[in-house]
This record gives sequence, structure tokens and C-alpha cells, in this order.
Amino acid sequence: MKRKVFFVCLLVGLFLLGTQRAFSQSAANIKETMAFVNGQLQARGENVRLEVVEYNTYSHRVGQTVYFNNRTHQLGHHWVPGDPNRWGTTEIYWLSDQVDGTATGLTIAETQAALNNAMNTWNTQNCAVIPLVQWPDYGMDWGYVQWALGFGGFGGWYADFTHAGWLAGAFFDEALGSEASNNVLGVTFTFIWVDDEGYPTDIDNNGKLDVAFREVYYNNQFPWGVGTAYPIDVETIVLHESGHGVSIGHFGKLFRTDANGKFHFAPLAVMNAGYTQVQQDLKATDIASFCSIWAHWPMR
Ligand SMILES: [Zn+2]
Repeated sequence: MKRKVFFVCLLVGLFLLGTQRAFSQSAANIKETMAFVNGQLQARGENVRLEVVEYNTYSHRVGQTVYFNNRTHQLGHHWVPGDPNRWGTTEIYWLSDQVDGTATGLTIAETQAALNNAMNTWNTQNCAVIPLVQWPDYGMDWGYVQWALGFGGFGGWYADFTHAGWLAGAFFDEALGSEASNNVLGVTFTFIWVDDEGYPTDIDNNGKLDVAFREVYYNNQFPWGVGTAYPIDVETIVLHESGHGVSIGHFGKLFRTDANGKFHFAPLAVMNAGYTQVQQDLKATDIASFCSIWAHWPMR
């Protein structure tokens, strides 16, 4: 009898160990993905590189920010106002891919309404006029990373910030490493401009690398809903990933309460690196981050 119990515990322990080890390898997997995508971009003669991957996880794991260049670890990354490489405009153009625009468990109309609510939340903050302008998707299957990894789309980009849609779990395992499909809810890829020698540029000398474009993908292996902690609330996750879209990083620490085994973040914020509950409104730290980044952006 004792032997049987021992074996059960051993199996559970090994299972947990295996799961954690597999997922902790994802930073290495992400670097492989970055190197692969950047090799493709270089071969195509594009002055653009994938620089940062940020992902948000479900409940009990902490998402990460992974940089391609370690030398830029201390730097942020932001759009350049009036960037000649980006149409010379001070506006930030975004679009939502309708081809992959339906979350599991919802209609496309419900999914897109929640997405638009989240974008509107960022666009209506009082401390800064954030020049977010929506572009039509023209029925195209947008997403450079999904194309590069063989998951549809095509090898181009258009908007500054693209919600590339809800993709199958296999995309997340391929891009971020095994077990990612079971843990990652959303991921943001930030591409930066590089010069002819391949070095990142900072043409406005603000100490931040110049963003070329960003793409967000959502994991359709999870069930999605509206206003429920589980299924996953679309608006909450879009609000978080769009936070990366407007150059805000992760914030807050993960804690575990021993008494009930529950996980929580402190301070609670939309930009916490893990999803614990519905958060359709920005918290104080989210707003502070947003204002510090955007308050000095030139008016359009
Ligand atoms: Zn995140």
C-alpha cells in the first residue's frame, strides 16, 4: 500500500517537474524564433528586426519579456513621432485581422466588440492625446510572424500595430516553446528599425529603440468569453497586449497565498504579467506608465 502511494507521488512530482522545465525553456525557444525571423528579414534586405517578445500567461505562471539583443536590455522601445520610415506621421495606425478575428466560444462580432472596447480605453486617457487611428484590414490575413513560422498570413506588414488574431495552440508552441499553448494567452512581438549595418536605430535620441511595427496574437486553445474570469475575458487580455502596443512593459510581482494556494499580483494592474481576473479598467500604475510615455508626444 505504501509503495503504491509512493509511486503516485513520484508520478505527480515528475509531471510537475517536467512541465515547469519544459516551459522555463521558452526564453531559449523565443530566442531561436527571433534569430530565425531576423535571419529571414536580413535575407530579404529589410531594415527591420524582431527585438522584443512579451507574453501574458494564465493564472499561476509569470509572463516574460525576452530581448533579442542583450546589449539593449536597459533600453526601452517606442515609436518615433513623425518617423520618416513610418509615413512621417505622428499618428499610430492599428488594425484588427478579421480572418483570424474570432475567439473560441464567441462570434466574430462579440470578439471584435471587446477588442474595440479595449482600444478605446487606451485612446480615451486624459493625460495625453494618444493618436491611435484604426485602419481597415481589407480582408487580408495579417501577421508577419505567423507567416514566417508557417501558420498562414503573408510576408508583409502594414499598420504600426496589428491585432493579428486568434491562432491555434500549435502556433504558440512553435513560436514560444513546448507547453506555451497551455500557458500563454497572448503575445506581443515588437519589431525595430535597424541601419544598413544591422544596428538598432534611435534617430530621435530619446534613449529608446525605434519601433517599426508590433503584432499581437491570442491563443485560441483557451475558451474565451465576455466579462468572465474563465472563459478568459477578451477585453482584459486585449487591453494588456495593447498596453505593450503603446510601449508599456510588465508591472507588479506575483505572490502565492499559502493559506488557500491562490496566486495574485501586487500591485494589481492590467500590465501584470499574468491573468488572474477580469480587468477592463486601467489601474493607477497602468495610467502612470501610459502618461509618462505619451504625455510629451507631439499633437497631430
Ligand atoms: Zn504582457
